[in-house]
Amino acid sequence: AASTARDPFAELNPQQRAAVEHDIGAAAPRPLLVVAGAGSGKTSTLAHRVARLIQSGADPQRILLLTFSRRAANEMGQRAAGVLQRVLGLSGRHGSSQPMAGLPWAGTFHAIGARLLREYAGRIGLEPSFTIHDRGDAEDLMGMVRHEIGLGAAGGQKRFPLKGTCLAIYSRVVNSREPLERVLQSTFPWCSEWEAQLKRLFGAYVDAKQEQNVLDYDDLLLFWAEMAADPELGPELGALFDHVLVDEYQDTNRLQAAIVRGMKPDGRGVMAVGDDAQSIYSFRGATVRNILDFPQQFSRPACTVTLERNYRSTQPILDASNAVIAAALERHAKTLWTDRVSSARPQLILIPDEAEQARWVCNRVLALREEGVKLIQQAVLFRAASHSAALELELVRRNVPFVKFGGLKFLEAAHVKDLLALLRFAQNPSGRLAGFRAAQLVPGIGQATAARLLEAVGQAADACAAVDAFAPPPRAQTDWDAFAALFRTLRAPGLRWPLDAELARDWYLPHLERLYDDAPVRAADLDQLVQLAGGHGSRESFLTELTLDPPDATSDRAGPPLLDEDYLILSTIHSAKGQEWKSVTVLNAVDGCIPSDMSTGSADDIEEERRLLYVAMTRAREHLQLVLPHRFFVRQQAQMGDRHVYAQRTRFISPAMLKHFDECLWQDADTPHSRKPMPDSVRMLVRERARNAWK
Ligand code: ATP
Ligand code: MG
Repeated sequence: AASTARDPFAELNPQQRAAVEHDIGAAAPRPLLVVAGAGSGKTSTLAHRVARLIQSGADPQRILLLTFSRRAANEMGQRAAGVLQRVLGLSGRHGSSQPMAGLPWAGTFHAIGARLLREYAGRIGLEPSFTIHDRGDAEDLMGMVRHEIGLGAAGGQKRFPLKGTCLAIYSRVVNSREPLERVLQSTFPWCSEWEAQLKRLFGAYVDAKQEQNVLDYDDLLLFWAEMAADPELGPELGALFDHVLVDEYQDTNRLQAAIVRGMKPDGRGVMAVGDDAQSIYSFRGATVRNILDFPQQFSRPACTVTLERNYRSTQPILDASNAVIAAALERHAKTLWTDRVSSARPQLILIPDEAEQARWVCNRVLALREEGVKLIQQAVLFRAASHSAALELELVRRNVPFVKFGGLKFLEAAHVKDLLALLRFAQNPSGRLAGFRAAQLVPGIGQATAARLLEAVGQAADACAAVDAFAPPPRAQTDWDAFAALFRTLRAPGLRWPLDAELARDWYLPHLERLYDDAPVRAADLDQLVQLAGGHGSRESFLTELTLDPPDATSDRAGPPLLDEDYLILSTIHSAKGQEWKSVTVLNAVDGCIPSDMSTGSADDIEEERRLLYVAMTRAREHLQLVLPHRFFVRQQAQMGDRHVYAQRTRFISPAMLKHFDECLWQDADTPHSRKPMPDSVRMLVRERARNAWK
């Protein structure tokens, strides 16, 4: 009996067990779909199945686990390792202490795509040294091309869409596999008149990427999908893996579904789990149709398992969340139940404004900590990254450490981009964006000279020789020589990584002082970057992984806190997917925010916002607070100026649903604590942030 209690599979309920044991040991396991509500153990079931597969003899290196973030991949790896450890312990096979050491294929579609493309580059006409553009880079390149082919100023009265919009349209076309015309009609109707010009632009954009040997995020999926669809390469790719398991399948797009189908046309060994009620990425082309179509998408029909017991939340939290999602226009009927009783209903906190909201949340977080709920077991969630600004300041002022997921990233800071541009340029001299940025770090080199340099490098067989031979304006010559020397060193074959990163930083430091008057703060970031570099085997892997999985921004801009430190999680709702905390506070649960003013107001958009609130609420295990500031600050487009609006409770909580909540009016308590004068360090930080906000 003692051993049953420790058996990790014993705690599975019958449906979970069915999914875990599905076709175990079969030569060609049938495709399997698990559709179930939040907190019902989908991810957990996936992790158990991985452990079960390995236990039954599957080769870990031939299992592919696709998750929606690196964090999720790591977590899943750990969960599966934990299960496996317990299983092996039970059966007396005390082998290696890290049974999952041989499971390298876990990550996002993009990360796995990048890895496969590096390996297969030679076979599909790509230079293996390709660099990857993040969204920001891709937008910049789109803007550059738009300008070059003369569309920048096109249109007279009506302006041609901005580079960001152009990229969004392009990306949507690629990911949804729909023709441009249809995408314009359905999603960007105000750009329809530009169809012909957009076609020309996208053609030129694709050419530019190819010439410069860069791939954007969409390419990582697109090239992979094309390989998977290839009669020769597809089966070869498929044969790399016996099992392909996908979490959060409701947020995959057409291209991702095509990748899975291409690799496994008969669906053997494929398992997908998801929840249509949690689909929140349709703005990136994700479609719940993937879940609905899954049962018929392979040459053999899939088996479907549903889970109905929720293990995460207390009954009152579940009741409130179920009420919110029950009002959805379209959904798979799912009934979730739990035996986690509690008398505490979720709270609706009515509060005067955002400043009070920040103070209230801070108080609540600290009060819960007094009660024994560690900071790390608490999260504050919001619709848009900018919504946490007031709270961040309050947290800093009250000395509460936090980490923020989603939103402005470390990598988006100008000086970090500078250093990375140096390394990228060395990695791939044809990449114009990096080269353009890097060259202009040299004093005396402006846009025109930089463009001339790139021209020369682009035509030369030997990039180093071209940089050496380049004639900058005379006053820039000395600095140019130093730059050319650095470039040559960085390109030298035998250099031991991360020495290149250090050399690049050392070259850059004096320029940093010239370019920014807060150089010491920024220099610390560069040191951190070099440290990060040390964790990677090569420049190539460093640049790739940094682009695909950027580190999160933190309270002190100095990297994630130490692992043993206790800190609060701040996260956009999108980035909180799949996670859970003992206490969850949702900021700005008001109309205009959820649903967002920015959504177009179409029924589909509004429905997605409803699911977003549902995702937020279902992250909570024991305490759930929704805060409703009455006066709400709206940041608008520059011309219109900012304004305050008087906000209403989010429309997704109808009067009839109020019975599921406790409404609390919160007046300013004016505690001495909250009126404490700001220490100097905070004033500095505020000023610093305000000053750099535009950069
Ligand atoms: P989401 O839809 O939010 O991604 P999910 O369906 O993936 O949720 P999990 O995160 O896997 O749910 O599980 C939610 C919680 O329930 C976790 O804490 C997990 O450990 C726990 N849990 C899952 N199955 C069981 C079980 N059979 N017995 C006890 N706890 C369980
Ligand atoms: Mg999950």
